[in-house]
Amino acid sequence: MTAPQEILLAEPRGFCAGVDRAIEIVERALEKFGRPIYVRHEIVHNTHVVNDLKDRGAIFIEELDEVPPGATLVFSAHGVSQAVQREAKARGFRIFDATCPLVTKVHVEVAKLHKEGYEFIMIGHKGHPEVEGTMGQLDSGIHLVEDVEDVAKVQPSQTDRLAVVTQTTLSVDDAAAIMAAVKARFTHIQSPKQQDICYATQNRQDAVKLLATQVDAVVVVGSPTSSNTNRLRELAERLGVPAYMVDDASELQDSWFEGRQCVGVTAGASAPEDLVQGVVQRLKALGAVSVRSLDGVRETTKFPLPKGLKIEADPA
Ligand code: SF4
Repeated sequence: MTAPQEILLAEPRGFCAGVDRAIEIVERALEKFGRPIYVRHEIVHNTHVVNDLKDRGAIFIEELDEVPPGATLVFSAHGVSQAVQREAKARGFRIFDATCPLVTKVHVEVAKLHKEGYEFIMIGHKGHPEVEGTMGQLDSGIHLVEDVEDVAKVQPSQTDRLAVVTQTTLSVDDAAAIMAAVKARFTHIQSPKQQDICYATQNRQDAVKLLATQVDAVVVVGSPTSSNTNRLRELAERLGVPAYMVDDASELQDSWFEGRQCVGVTAGASAPEDLVQGVVQRLKALGAVSVRSLDGVRETTKFPLPKGLKIEADPA
């Protein structure tokens, strides 16, 4: 068997600022208030992150009636509907909101335009918690489209005041095609000044585009539930490179790399770097002798933590 000789690492890859913040919120809540800390939905879509936090005292739930009175509750990075927020408040939990500020930005835009009488077309994946959270900012008036075909079918009640929003973790290219169809059908629709697809999704997809031109196979580290991770794998495949998504090195199959000289590695925004390094070690064990990081955007975004989670070591 011919083993890969070279490993190329996409840059940037792995954790984004929203994921960093969400995990830190749960860690700090555990530190400050002790176990258990309840978390509504997986804090971020990564099996290893979730299992690690479970070991440290987090309990992941889907329904608020699973949380005992007086408990501390964290909302996941994907955001929640107004109904969930209201119910959590009514039940009297101590609440910390780990919704990514870039998702909150979409919620705020929806609320603002709704007051001005707007209805919305939302581009996103049905059933994804972020989509449920954003659509749940209003009782009605947000119409989901998943693809170009849906755009022809959607029926808003009026078209004078119509705005479009998107899930933050879509394929940039797919979203552009759907957005073009939306704008072609609803010529006066208002779109966000800055796209809703977040910087981390955009940067990781740009990095895969660069990576895919230089490798014979791509490994994407991340969990199957992670939207942005799935998009990275699909993108590499669309660019003509076999691509495999793995939660960690144990899922790698030697046959994937037979006859491949150069293997690219990247990771979704919720996948920890130590899992990427585990994949690199495994490829090295197969025979890879060089590891090189590609040039890419250096991300410096950092989001502040919610009030009430400061610990003594924090700078004043
Ligand atoms: Fe926020 Fe984007 Fe990261 Fe999601 S992928 S948590 S929207 S920065």
